[in-house]
Amino acid sequence: KQVIESVLGSLKDGGYLGNDILGSGFKFNIDLITGAGSYVCGEETALMESIENKRGTVRQRPPVPAVSGLYGKPTVLNNVLTFAYAVYILSDNSNLEYFLSLGTENSKGTMPFQVSGAVNNPGIFELPFGVTLRELLKLAGAVENAETVQIGGPLGAYFPLRAEFLNLKLSYEGVSEKGGMLGHGGIVVFGQGTDMKYRLLNSLDFFIDESCGKCAPCRIGTVRLKELFERIFKKQNIEENLKIIDEILESMKYLSLCGFGAGVYMPVRSLLTHYKNEIIEV
Ligand code: SF4
Repeated sequence: KQVIESVLGSLKDGGYLGNDILGSGFKFNIDLITGAGSYVCGEETALMESIENKRGTVRQRPPVPAVSGLYGKPTVLNNVLTFAYAVYILSDNSNLEYFLSLGTENSKGTMPFQVSGAVNNPGIFELPFGVTLRELLKLAGAVENAETVQIGGPLGAYFPLRAEFLNLKLSYEGVSEKGGMLGHGGIVVFGQGTDMKYRLLNSLDFFIDESCGKCAPCRIGTVRLKELFERIFKKQNIEENLKIIDEILESMKYLSLCGFGAGVYMPVRSLLTHYKNEIIEV
């Protein structure tokens, strides 16, 4: 925060930001606002609520932000990455051509992949879309006994590190074809012996904590999922409870108000697909 504030201060002092940029009469200001750390405030309407100093809950749409957004005004919301790409592309005609030459057919350009967890060289790796998971893990120095990755953040799918997934191309369509999502390109690596039952419970606690509570499928569904898994861990009506879990995940996917509730199915189903024996010790 201090670094960004200091940069903004320098730009204002130099006349590059403010109400009369370089004496041109052109007005452009940047305000830095710090949120309270809620995951759902990454959702555009919850973000606007937070900026307006309200509780970070998702707004019902319509109206969409482009019609009525921040303080009821038409609002453009994009992440920093998009604005950074836009500046690069617009700064020179040849940049667009170069940008489009990188990546895959449906995922153009580069992605700053963020790799953390069981790696010797955690950090951000900006690479063209389409790089394989194997190549990225090599750059990040994944530990020899790395066994699992979660791709796309807390709502992303878990994949075991066997050949089929090591050769996975990291593009929107590549990860989607394998039943996951690339999301913002966050990748967490887990080493041998990771307790997948704990991973599941940890994810469920995260969903319960971070649900903004605005819609019933997510507010109630997240809590019910944890209750049902706890019953399964006690070996109570396993098949019946798994069926109810599946129905809840399906309802959340289609009836949740925002992508948070709709995305819960992905980590849960991927864990059940790839680690069922570890999670459900019959
Ligand atoms: S899906 Fe969850 S986070 Fe999104 S609006 Fe509903 S309760 Fe809030």
